[in-house]
Parts: sequence; structure tokens; C-alpha cells
Amino acid sequence: MKICICPGSFDPVTYGHIDIIQRAAELFDHVYVAVLKNPEKQSFFTIDERLEMLHVSVKAMANVSVESFDGLVVEYARKKGALAIVRGLRAVSDFEYEFKLAAMNRNLAPDIETVFMMTSSQFSFLSSSAVKEVASFGGDVSQWVSPEVAQRLYAKYQINERGRRD
Ligand code: ADP
Repeated sequence: MKICICPGSFDPVTYGHIDIIQRAAELFDHVYVAVLKNPEKQSFFTIDERLEMLHVSVKAMANVSVESFDGLVVEYARKKGALAIVRGLRAVSDFEYEFKLAAMNRNLAPDIETVFMMTSSQFSFLSSSAVKEVASFGGDVSQWVSPEVAQRLYAKYQINERGRRD
């Protein structure tokens, strides 16, 4: 059985993430979407909120599970019996960071491969932080996140149905 993990913060999950998860699910027998529980990194949504939004987003994908993890990604991958860590690449700007991360992980665990997937062109400028910024001003985020995620974003930013802060 070929298993991979898709690790990330997913703060919150976007259609860019879903696209990568869906494509990974076509290549691997099972995909573990692994949400990083990092007390050091301030997140906008709590770990439980991020997990709930992901659960809803992947519920139609039979070979995808969602879990949280802390500690080293390679250790989590090993625990799951994964042979690969799948990461998405958007612009050249992602490359340097991802290159370093992949090199570190390769040093720590030479048996676990990092696999990069190019973003689909319509998502190449999409990031969780950009979505949060637009939502905070009451902008329309429906082309980037599910209605469920959009609703949670507006609720957190106290944006009402007229697109204004209460
Ligand atoms: P991290 O904090 O680990 O970068 P993210 O939640 O931002 O976590 O991203 C998780 C993974 O999803 C990363 O591999 C990232 O490159 C990828 N990703 C995020 N947005 C997109 C997108 N629009 N297109 C393709 N991949 C993406």
C-alpha cells in the first residue's frame, strides 16, 4: 500500500490545498492530511476548527484521512508508514523554503521522499493569508474557499451580510 502525507497549517484550508490533496489521492492508495499543531506558531483558527473544516472538505474522498500532529514531519510520516511527503509549489518564491525543508527532511529520513506538485494555474496566487486578508475587509472569497470556510472567516472577523464589520 502506497501511503503519503500532506502536511501543513491549513489556516484555513483553501481550494489550492484541496486540489493538491485530490491529486495526491489519485497517485497514492492513502493520503493522510496532517495538520500541524504548533504552539509556537500563532494560528488564526484553532487546531479543532482547522480539522473540522478539512474533514468537511475531504469527506467525499474515500482514501483521505485528516489528523493533527506535532513534532517532526518525518517522524509522523514514519509512524503512518508513508513513503512520501507531498507539498504544493506555487511560485518560484515557494521554492527556496521548500528546497531547504526537503533537504532537512532527507537528512533526517533518507528513506522518505518529498514529492512536489505544481499548483493548478488558477490557484497559483492563492494562500491562506491572502484569503484571510480579503475576508477581513468583507471581500468575496467564494472562488478560493468553500462556503463553510467563508462563513467561519466572516464570523471571526465579525463581518455581516452587507460585507461590513459589526
Ligand atoms: P505550511 O505552513 O506548512 O506552508 P500551508 O497550509 O500554508 O502550510 O500549506 C500546506 C501545503 O499546501 C504546502 O505544501 C503548500 O505549498 C501547499 N499549498 C498551499 N496553497 C497552495 C496553492 N494555492 N496551490 C498549491 N499548493 C498550495
